[in-house]
Amino acid sequence: MFGFKKKSAESDGGAKMYPMTINGQPVVTEAGDDVPNPANGETVARAPICTAQHLDEAVAAAKRAQGAWAATPDAERREACRQMAGVITENAAELAELLTREQGKPLKTMGAEFEVGGAAAWAGYAADLEMPVKILQDDEAARIEQHRVPVGVVGSITPWNWPLMIAIWHIVPAIRAGNTVVIKPSPNTPLSTLRMVELLNTVLPAGVLNCVTGHGEIGGLMSAHTGINKIVFTGSTATGKKIMQSAAGNLKRLTLELGGNDAGIVLPGTDPKAIAEGVFWGAFLNMGQTCAALKRLYVHTSIYDEMCAALVDIVNAMPMGNGLEEATVIGPLQNEMQLNKVAELVEDARKNGARILTGGERANGAGNFYPVTLVADIQAGARLVDEEQFGTALPIIRYEDVEDAIAQANGLDVGLGASVWASDVDEARKVAARVEAGTVYINQHGQIAPHVPFGGIKGSGIGVEFGQEGLEANTDIKVYNIAK
Ligand code: NAD
Repeated sequence: MFGFKKKSAESDGGAKMYPMTINGQPVVTEAGDDVPNPANGETVARAPICTAQHLDEAVAAAKRAQGAWAATPDAERREACRQMAGVITENAAELAELLTREQGKPLKTMGAEFEVGGAAAWAGYAADLEMPVKILQDDEAARIEQHRVPVGVVGSITPWNWPLMIAIWHIVPAIRAGNTVVIKPSPNTPLSTLRMVELLNTVLPAGVLNCVTGHGEIGGLMSAHTGINKIVFTGSTATGKKIMQSAAGNLKRLTLELGGNDAGIVLPGTDPKAIAEGVFWGAFLNMGQTCAALKRLYVHTSIYDEMCAALVDIVNAMPMGNGLEEATVIGPLQNEMQLNKVAELVEDARKNGARILTGGERANGAGNFYPVTLVADIQAGARLVDEEQFGTALPIIRYEDVEDAIAQANGLDVGLGASVWASDVDEARKVAARVEAGTVYINQHGQIAPHVPFGGIKGSGIGVEFGQEGLEANTDIKVYNIAK
């Protein structure tokens, strides 16, 4: 055993440090990060900064536990996943409040309580999935069976936008399939994951689920670690590419859920007032910090002004504030870097002649608040259109010819989600067939469900999560070919 400290969550003074979990044990470190509340800058608590040695120990623990876990009867593994869902539900109030305090999202409206509820629902769904043996041939020549076997140790690297839900998307299917896990949350939002993993360990054998915290370097070490057999990563395309390079050493399996720049196309004949609320939530769920949020809205010229006006009315009715206040619909952006990025893209649009319909200035006072900003009279080539803003700003682009709108929607090297909005669903389907994305929504945007495979094409990722396909992504195929 290495010489690091093992103890409970209390630090030696100052803010509390939430412990990592390695081999079922709480572990804190001398060095730590203060995690600020994005609504007011106050320190919520501290997170450990793990060393390469901690990571090695977490991987070794996962490796030691994996054989026994894979050999555990399927019904027991399924029951453990059900218990994980139960633990999340029992501790939902604590987890949701911690999530709001470190991430910024509202506790109520489509925020932290919704996320924690989603985490429990996804865990419960994965518990019920089966991995039946397929009989490929059974005749006088041979019996050939296709089995699904765990890949071994899965490394999970998560972002800061939906920390708990994404952690569960990574962890539970991996564990259900007989793997063990080492998870590293984003240094921006480590606390809720540290606490959730600590709670989940009350219903799992030691070593099955380990959590380490730290910065990008630790993610890099995980990607290159020969004790890890698969990386499941959700985050930016740039980081996904780095992970792919460092994963080559031992040919790690990869699931990469990366960034997007989802287009929405509103066809002529659509009633702007009828769709405005759906467009709003498609774009601004989690303050727009959602991988499959609507990030570019293409509107036919015949209804352009009406669409802009309908959206402004909705945006102006949404209260912004600290997520712990019940009325809040729009919270702060999660971190200052993201705030600066949104401000910079809006400023660039303004300088280049775009029209700011509402918002457009950083809010005064403490916290990373940037009001929802709608930007009209903007075209391809503007940074707010071409780059992923991941925040509270939406460019609304006028088009005359639907062919041109489709070409623009497909013009970027990403393809996570997209949407078509129309009064005639058949017309919408024809357009949807030509839009390049992992999911194309019609008259809605961004809806996900545990039974529906979700993933991106082009620069938006490799592989899918959720559903049977998501479970199987945590396995290798093993064939038994038996002569007769
Ligand atoms: P990020 O890529 O900066 O960080 C994600 C995680 O990777 C963090 O835990 C970080 O510490 C770690 N990391 C950083 N450098 C690393 C390296 N070299 N090797 C390994 N790991 C490293 O992303 P972010 O800023 O946290 O999240 C925002 C991005 O994530 C957006 O682009 C968004 O679209 C994307 N995202 C995608 C999905 C999806 O399902 N497709 C979901 C959520 C977010």
